[in-house]
Amino acid sequence: MLTRKNAKNGEELSILGFGCMRMPTSGGSIDEPRAIAMIHSAIKEGINYFDTAYIYHNGKSESLLGKALLGGYREKVKVATKLPPFMVNKLENAQKIIAKQLERLQTDYIDYYLLHMLTDKPMFNRLAALGVMEWLEKLKEEGTIRNIGFSFHGSKTDFELIVRAYPWDFCQIQYNYLDENNQATKSGLQLATKLGIPVIVMEPLRGGKLVTHLPEEVKRTFSSYDPKRSPVEWALKWIWNHQEVNVVLSGMSDEAQLADNIRIACSSEANALSDEELKLFEHVKEVMMTKTKIPCTSCGYCMPCPAGVDIPGCFSCYNDKYLLKDKMVRFRYLQTLGALSVKPANASQCTSCGKCESHCPQEIAIRKQLKTVSREMEGIFYKPIVGSLRRILKLK
Ligand code: SF4
Ligand code: SF4
Repeated sequence: MLTRKNAKNGEELSILGFGCMRMPTSGGSIDEPRAIAMIHSAIKEGINYFDTAYIYHNGKSESLLGKALLGGYREKVKVATKLPPFMVNKLENAQKIIAKQLERLQTDYIDYYLLHMLTDKPMFNRLAALGVMEWLEKLKEEGTIRNIGFSFHGSKTDFELIVRAYPWDFCQIQYNYLDENNQATKSGLQLATKLGIPVIVMEPLRGGKLVTHLPEEVKRTFSSYDPKRSPVEWALKWIWNHQEVNVVLSGMSDEAQLADNIRIACSSEANALSDEELKLFEHVKEVMMTKTKIPCTSCGYCMPCPAGVDIPGCFSCYNDKYLLKDKMVRFRYLQTLGALSVKPANASQCTSCGKCESHCPQEIAIRKQLKTVSREMEGIFYKPIVGSLRRILKLK
């Protein structure tokens, strides 16, 4: 297994991290014997970074990982887990959550602790105002957590604001060849690196959609170059080609995926792809673009929107609904467009001021298209459901 050094603390982290959100299941619950055997096998093959969260597998992921790491495995690996901001309205909530996490994980320290799924700067400000950052620093001083970070789904602008807002030990972003200009983007990855903040990458295969729902033309393009190299291998190698990336998390659901990911990780150095191979991705992206409903390239020239709409983010989710046949896309829409954050960025926030349209090099009728996105992605239930959730969670 190849490793890369964490630029902040010097730890050698395996370039492949084990994402514990898609573990094998049986009858709706985690298949414990299989999941534990996979974790042990991963450690034997050199994976030393395990990523879970308070909410994964309805709270069972942390417990499973804790159980799997008994018997001397805990000391061999780094455990990352996350605090769910939407469950934190006062510091006491966060204190109770981490106590539960330590209990579930059967450990007295967490190596990498993240604020889960920040989507915009006001969300970070809200937590900071509750005293969360000072509390995390105290936990770090005591040794209960060792590194403070955040995971991010939101716009490039908000990523830049958040990454500069605090001396983070690390961050976690969604990044793959389709998202080079989406969410944190390549420039966000480079900015974090410039600031000395190690980057962990999630969603390298967009939840598997870059494999299962890849257009036939794209599959042919990949296989015409090298019939032995699978779409998974192309996608992972593209990410590891970036030397700025420390660890790529893969949510592996069975033994074959684990073995395949390990095989690929063992031969994926940074800057290893040739110019010809990189050009292939440009062609693949062009093909994908011709199949998208709204030809948004996520260039961001239309941003910022005075009403807070994440215009490229809205179009990206909408396009995925058709391009990748993503059944979870409505959830992703809720998640990434700030339904439960201080400043929602979904399509129906648009006030039709028209400020954005003259900046769009693709000449997209942004106002009209946002209405379509709002109709299809939000429908009539979005406002009452999100409104109720926001009231329950006491969000303004
Ligand atoms: S038209 Fe809508 S999306 Fe465009 S800048 Fe105005 S409020 Fe924002
Ligand atoms: S300017 Fe146009 S192409 Fe660029 S992000 Fe905005 S809508 Fe998309």
